[in-house]
Amino acid sequence: MFDRGTATDPRTATADPGPLAARVASWMLELAEVDRDLTDAEQIDLIRGLEDLKAGAAAAQARITTDLDAARQDQRAREGVPAERRSAGIASEVALARRVSPVRGGQHLGLAKALVHEMPHALCALTTGALSEWRATLLVRESACLTRADRITFDAELCRDPSTLQGWGDQRLIAEAKKIAYRLDAQSVVRRNRKAESERHVSVRPAPDTMSYLTGLLPVPQGIAVYAALSRRADEARASGDTRSRGQIMADTLVERVTGQTRACDVRIEIQLVMTDRTLLGGDDEPGYLPGYGTVPAEWIRDLLTGGDEDGSDPSTEIWLRRLYTSPSGSELVSMDSKARRAPAGLARFVTARDRTCRTPWCDAPIRHIDHVQSHADGGETTADNLQGLCEACNYAKQAPGWRASPTTAPDGRHQVASTTPSGHTYRSTAPPPPGVDPPDQMNLDDLLLRDLAEHGPGPGGRWTPIPGRPFDSAVFEGELAGLELALARILTPVG
Ligand SMILES: [Zn+2]
Repeated sequence: MFDRGTATDPRTATADPGPLAARVASWMLELAEVDRDLTDAEQIDLIRGLEDLKAGAAAAQARITTDLDAARQDQRAREGVPAERRSAGIASEVALARRVSPVRGGQHLGLAKALVHEMPHALCALTTGALSEWRATLLVRESACLTRADRITFDAELCRDPSTLQGWGDQRLIAEAKKIAYRLDAQSVVRRNRKAESERHVSVRPAPDTMSYLTGLLPVPQGIAVYAALSRRADEARASGDTRSRGQIMADTLVERVTGQTRACDVRIEIQLVMTDRTLLGGDDEPGYLPGYGTVPAEWIRDLLTGGDEDGSDPSTEIWLRRLYTSPSGSELVSMDSKARRAPAGLARFVTARDRTCRTPWCDAPIRHIDHVQSHADGGETTADNLQGLCEACNYAKQAPGWRASPTTAPDGRHQVASTTPSGHTYRSTAPPPPGVDPPDQMNLDDLLLRDLAEHGPGPGGRWTPIPGRPFDSAVFEGELAGLELALARILTPVG
């Protein structure tokens, strides 16, 4: 979906990546054609050697990363950028270079700074392969609550002689690290526990088979109290003849008590499904996309919308289908324009549906901001083309000095954003293909533009309008329209 473009900033762009990077590329070629005519002893030695090489590469990345961080901050200081803005976007540059999310980029940057500035022995162990990047991350994490001076002591005690780490599993390494950290500064460990408590929260994420995980990160006594209450309720219900399993009763009770509903299945939901009309009406297998969840199978959508249930009962789920997007050609979502500075709700929802998750390459965080690709102050328009969905961190990084972005179009017509970082590297992100990108070559409802159905009714003149220039058979159209209206009449039940 994403590709790294060519560097475009004449001040920093170089066709030649530099002698060391070129040598690294030649090692890659050598490894790609590795001689496999080896004895088993040679195989083991090579596997070990390559593992050491990965650790050594991680150590080199850490050193280079801190150099980039220092150089970028120095440059911004000279340019008069306020101190609190000097580190903006650096983690995102590291992330783009390493092809990971900005959050992970921030972790790599933090690891690099800790190793280079405060943990020279651990860095040395990483350089020689005695410590892997993952185990170095564990040590940095476990010493994060210490002062710089204590961390230097921690590093010396644990890593001065890397042979002591030999044979320790990750759990043993963490336990020894915790022991030293607690001895050096018990108070900081207590503070850290308190901080952990302040980070309590509830989250939801997709699970396989159109299920979801609802997770509460809670202090131990509260987590146990919730579990025990649900458990007690399940025992009582089972004792009075409830035939559901304990797990089912606990899950249903959780939903009922949190939402205040009488029955767990009586949910009132608002969904914003992106799907083709063929999936809705025609028995097509093209999956749909449920923002905030992900791809969902066609049959599940139809069951949800038509009230079907595995046991044939009629669930009282009320569903409010907010919007139905479909495309004239089936290859892209329909766009809407506006002159307003802030994206109006309809346009913001469109961009969210088009982009699905944060548009930064490698970042799949939920969209929190509808961002002007070219800023409004620089003449950027509030149109679907010039808007993109970004997470909070990426929106912040994009505003850092030296970053710029422009909307473009991918060869297949999909929306694209080209972002150039201060180093002059350009990264392109292409909007994901909507459902139904390869429609059958026949007149169908996907030849119709359906938008703002829930909010504005069926378009100008009270009817949906076929796209000009497409072959149009009014009898087929009216017939399909009647079917669609029938289906929508069942679906469009407003929420409270
Ligand atoms: Zn992001």
